[in-house]
Amino acid sequence: MPHPTADVAIIGSGMGGATVAHALASTGARITVLERGVQIPAAPENRDPRAVYRSDHFKSDDSWFRPDGTAFAAGNHFNVGGNTKFYGGVLYRLRERDFDGVAYPEGESRAWPIRYAELEPWYQAAERLYQVRGDASQDPTEPPRQAPLPFPAVPDEPAMAEARRRMQAIGLHPSALPLGIDLKTWLSHGSTGWDGFPDAREGKMDAENAALIPALASPNVELRSGAKVTRILFAPDGKRATGVEFESGGQVHTLRAGLVVLAAGAIPSAGILLASDVDKTINRSGQVGHNLMAHNQSIAIGFDWRFRNDAVYQKTFAINDFYLDDGAGGPPLGNIQLLGRVDGAILKAGLPRVPEWLLGQVSRHTLDFFLNSEDLPDPRNHVRLDGKRLVLDFQHRTNLSTHDRLKARWKQALAEAGFKRSVSMLFGRDGPGHQCGTIRMGADPTDSPLNGWCQAHDCANLFVTDGSPFASAAAVNPALTVAALALRAAQRMRGEMGETLGS
Ligand SMILES: Cc1cc2nc3c(=O)[nH]c(=O)nc-3n(C[C@H](O)[C@H](O)[C@H](O)COP(=O)(O)OP(=O)(O)OC[C@H]3O[C@@H](n4cnc5c(N)ncnc54)[C@H](O)[C@@H]3O)c2cc1C
Repeated sequence: MPHPTADVAIIGSGMGGATVAHALASTGARITVLERGVQIPAAPENRDPRAVYRSDHFKSDDSWFRPDGTAFAAGNHFNVGGNTKFYGGVLYRLRERDFDGVAYPEGESRAWPIRYAELEPWYQAAERLYQVRGDASQDPTEPPRQAPLPFPAVPDEPAMAEARRRMQAIGLHPSALPLGIDLKTWLSHGSTGWDGFPDAREGKMDAENAALIPALASPNVELRSGAKVTRILFAPDGKRATGVEFESGGQVHTLRAGLVVLAAGAIPSAGILLASDVDKTINRSGQVGHNLMAHNQSIAIGFDWRFRNDAVYQKTFAINDFYLDDGAGGPPLGNIQLLGRVDGAILKAGLPRVPEWLLGQVSRHTLDFFLNSEDLPDPRNHVRLDGKRLVLDFQHRTNLSTHDRLKARWKQALAEAGFKRSVSMLFGRDGPGHQCGTIRMGADPTDSPLNGWCQAHDCANLFVTDGSPFASAAAVNPALTVAALALRAAQRMRGEMGETLGS
């Protein structure tokens, strides 16, 4: 029987939601996780690069809208485990300096209301929960840590060992990517990489496998999938959340709750809050939905006919030599990491007129990288509602000159490493995988909806624990920081719930 009321209602079962469910499971509180999607089934398409990269097989059938009114497929994956079911499992800590705000030629990123040292123990806990593999000692930008990563690094395949040697030979410092993947289990279900491929519980350390499934082993935690939350309900003065309204099976339901945790993803969460009655309270800063960030991202592919790429998964190392500065004392540029292996079937997504067999031949001599630079919080980049439509106004690129410099610097490095020819392609803005910042944290309630605990300044029993609270995007992948913030917020929730909980 579903809980008739809940002590804690969690909206969304992705990185932020599942992590909170796991952290609170031992309290004995009645926890209901409301998830609009269902569990990803085991299916041949899950490991078919054509289905994953070229057809709309895994695209949402929900629509978002551009400011001009045109519709496009919503850029998130709505399923149990959220976007982490598709993620590359790269689980980075933000660098220490990211919390202080970083100066770029086009402007400054924003300082966080918490410092790195406050989040460090929660990063450690998140790395344990998501069973991160890696070797942080290889990375010159790694922030101080109290414990090594819990598991050794995922091994380079021979072709990547050769690529790593070439990077070292030109003076760079390739470092093991911190990864949430049980390689043996993953490969036992199919010879593919995991970046972008959905995981039907086959070895990815994603939100479902690492956090939700263990949480559901506690009898006090339940998952209601197929439950799409439409708004949060509040007491008349707006100072307490009283529950949530959701649609399921064609009907509208209400779940009363003592504490509400919003973790639907930075874009959907803003939509849910904007549909709720919060203008005079949680949104008195007017910032809900604004400051959307998702990194400036490109793919860069180097070609050298002497290099033979027979890798299956490829994604094992990164280059952070240009993260804290441009390598010559100038402003920082960003992070460079291997992509999952891009074979002919995947290349064809970008080059549809070229025969797949030819792209297959070419891809035997290519090396594929994913470049991330920080984008800046700009209130013009925002989510708004037009009736029930979610409008994404995300066209104002920020800090693009930094990204252009990263690409140019990387192409130069590729050439020095023997990849004389290279191409790059800037990612579009419709599917912002690294979305964050839409319900930001800050010390001042007049310019931020949340405090440093991911808790609404004006409503102590409402927390937001997905990518929304990020004050800045930094330039590394966000998911571990989502988890660390969620674990820290869960500690605060225990305090808020006090004696109402079992422990
Ligand atoms: C292809 C891909 C690769 C990526 N690779 C990496 C990587 O390697 N490393 C990394 O750090 N990040 C990566 N990311 C980003 C990462 O997945 C996100 O940062 C992370 O999932 C964010 O967690 P979240 O809790 O904010 O949202 P999500 O994990 O997306 O969870 C949100 C959940 O809320 C549910 N939901 C939405 N609306 C509602 C509603 N109205 N009612 C109920 N439930 C709702 C969704 O279905 C979803 O389950 C990748 C993303 C993609 C798409």
